[in-house]
Amino acid sequence: MDVLVLKAWLNILGSENVLTDSATISATQTATFATTQRVLAVIRPGNCQDVQACVKIANQYKTPLYPISCGKNWGLGSRVPVEDNCVILELSRLNRIIDYNEKLAYITVEPGVTFRQVYEYLREQKSNLFVSVTGSSPYSSLVGNTLERGEGISPYGDRLAHVCGFEVVLPTGECVHTGFGRFANAKTTAVSRWGVGPYLDGIFTQSNLGIVTKMTMWLMPIPKYFQEFICVINDSYRLEKLIDTLQELVLQETIKSNSFTFWNCYKLLSRLGQYPWKLMGEKTPLSLKERKGIERWFGSGSLYSASREQGLAERRVIEQALEGQVDELIFADQDSKSDLLKENPSLGTPNDKTIKSTYWRKKTKIPLQIDPDRDGCGVIWLCVVFPFDGKQIVEALMSIESTVKSSKFEPNIAMSCTSGRSIQMFIAIMYDRNVPEEDQRAMECYERVFQQLIQEGYIPYRLGIQSMNSLPPAQDDYGKLISILKQGLDPNNILAPGRYDFRSDWPDQT
Ligand SMILES: Cc1cc2nc3c(=O)[nH]c(=O)nc-3n(C[C@H](O)[C@H](O)[C@H](O)COP(=O)(O)OP(=O)(O)OC[C@H]3O[C@@H](n4cnc5c(N)ncnc54)[C@H](O)[C@@H]3O)c2cc1C
Repeated sequence: MDVLVLKAWLNILGSENVLTDSATISATQTATFATTQRVLAVIRPGNCQDVQACVKIANQYKTPLYPISCGKNWGLGSRVPVEDNCVILELSRLNRIIDYNEKLAYITVEPGVTFRQVYEYLREQKSNLFVSVTGSSPYSSLVGNTLERGEGISPYGDRLAHVCGFEVVLPTGECVHTGFGRFANAKTTAVSRWGVGPYLDGIFTQSNLGIVTKMTMWLMPIPKYFQEFICVINDSYRLEKLIDTLQELVLQETIKSNSFTFWNCYKLLSRLGQYPWKLMGEKTPLSLKERKGIERWFGSGSLYSASREQGLAERRVIEQALEGQVDELIFADQDSKSDLLKENPSLGTPNDKTIKSTYWRKKTKIPLQIDPDRDGCGVIWLCVVFPFDGKQIVEALMSIESTVKSSKFEPNIAMSCTSGRSIQMFIAIMYDRNVPEEDQRAMECYERVFQQLIQEGYIPYRLGIQSMNSLPPAQDDYGKLISILKQGLDPNNILAPGRYDFRSDWPDQT
């Protein structure tokens, strides 16, 4: 790398924010699966103007930048850039909560603001609102999660449906504001998503067309009456009908979107503890079918109601609908002493319980400071969306499970009812990166499932850095459109090369 480019960044950011030491570089080059990309440096701007200046320098010296917010994109690439020889633009110093409005229920944040920070801030304000958190780290970023089009727990979990007012530094260093944000005196930037004119927020998610330095996220009111319920089915043959029953309940909004989740037994076990090495005589994989004869599925739902009466009526509808379809059904409401309701992520309390599952196949204890990259936890996520249809989902599940089992991993699978029309499925391949050849075996397993799903017409909706070039070619001029946008916005190709960059099938690309 040109030393002049480093000097130029040093002049703006100071030596503490331009890092090239081997420990930093090696940490940022490490994901939860094998990667080969080299990182040249890490630069840490402190505000939007710094970001603009850094980007202009990157253009001058034609040095590619890879922006990250908190860098916890575990299972999908962590902090590692898609392509070799990038400089990481780390935005965690931009960590201000810029605006918050209790009445209109929104919060405006910079990319370094974490779910934990917002949770604590809202508690300090004695707010009656909460932010939709994820199963990932409390120290992950609202902006980073949104830009990946991640998925949250609770009715506001569809990120793009609940954010607006982006501030974006373009790849050439100019700054734009989406929605009404471009008007100096606009009073509706944080409360109205569309603005006037072309709607732009979407093109800055899952793309390499801009760096988001500010964003508003809408907050959900804590319901007057809250209940959780869990159900268990002892065998997957009952799953098809149960999925179809839930589809009706979600479509009619008795159960709200992103408020019901299915976990298979392996997902639950990995959440509860580590691999039973002793019981298994050090052998892998674990098969509950072989050991116990059954592979249970667990469902958990949340009910957000405006009153006790409404909640109890909704509960009755669900109990009737699920009668005879599940082996167990347990409800807990906010008045009960049940553990179900303690520190509940469905009401915006972030926790690291699910992230601990990344240590599933490790033989060492789970440390207090969780860091799957550092600790050699092997995790590869595959995120795919299905029509909300029991038959299609169960057929796909059977083939996924069979492929994963034949590769000698546990099929660790969860599903979330995103709407009455679609279900998202999260398949996690969990392993120990310190076991020789496991990296390769796990990636082969992932590739097989990935290709199998694509062949069946189920295209993943979110990609790990290893799969940016693995989608089938577009059957239309999509690649041309992306190519025109990218060339127009980023003529020097300096921003996040390769990230969701689907120009590859367009012959005219430069
Ligand atoms: C066990 C486990 C459970 C998980 N559960 C969930 C879950 O429930 N829901 C979910 O969505 N994910 C989940 N994840 C995946 C992941 O950990 C989260 O999505 C996490 O929020 C991403 O990390 P981050 O927020 O720090 O974003 P970052 O890593 O900072 O950002 C993600 C990517 O977005 C881009 N980006 C980030 N910031 C900017 C910016 N300001 N401008 C332009 N581009 C930017 C970069 O390409 C970056 O690599 C889970 C992972 C594991 C291992």
